[in-house]
Amino acid sequence: MVLPKSFLALVNEIEKLPGIGSKTAFRLALHLLLSSDSNISNLAKAITDAKNNIRICHICGNLAESDDLCEICKDPRRNQSVICVVETIQDLVAIERTDHYKGLYHVLGGLISPVENIDENDINLDLLIKRTKEKNIKEIIYAVPRSLEADATFIMMKQRLRDSNIDVKLTRFATGLPVGGHIDYVDSITLIQSFDNRVSVE
Ligand SMILES: [Zn+2]
Repeated sequence: MVLPKSFLALVNEIEKLPGIGSKTAFRLALHLLLSSDSNISNLAKAITDAKNNIRICHICGNLAESDDLCEICKDPRRNQSVICVVETIQDLVAIERTDHYKGLYHVLGGLISPVENIDENDINLDLLIKRTKEKNIKEIIYAVPRSLEADATFIMMKQRLRDSNIDVKLTRFATGLPVGGHIDYVDSITLIQSFDNRVSVE
């Protein structure tokens, strides 16, 4: 290759980011190199600060500053009796962007998948059961688009709630979301409709 080794090393690191192909990595690396020194040091500092300061909220699994709770768990104006269960933090962010839902969240951080050897112990389910019981939660909205894994996780969640004698209303998005899709790809109007048209699961 006719390019300097350290430039290629930078391209290589950028290419490891999700959704970045080699051409984009090359373009971004070039852009960074041609940026001012202050822009570069600000970016490097933001990455380091975020890595050092951001933790996972020990109540819901969202991102939080240091050892604190996340902004949603800290906010007394949120409806404290409803939990929306999502697969990932990106899904939580997508729902927050609609500015429609005002309850709490629970991030599972994965779904049960026998094929990939992911069972209930690999996802953040225990805390959800504990929270639902202790905080007297009235409704759990399962906001995971349908798939084999989503269904397996839902059944396990339902079973665990039942085993713990927890009386909570379970609701699920009925239609509108792509099967096996991700919430963060869904437009806001569809997402709002999914919330409003959710159905009770017995
Ligand atoms: Zn939280």
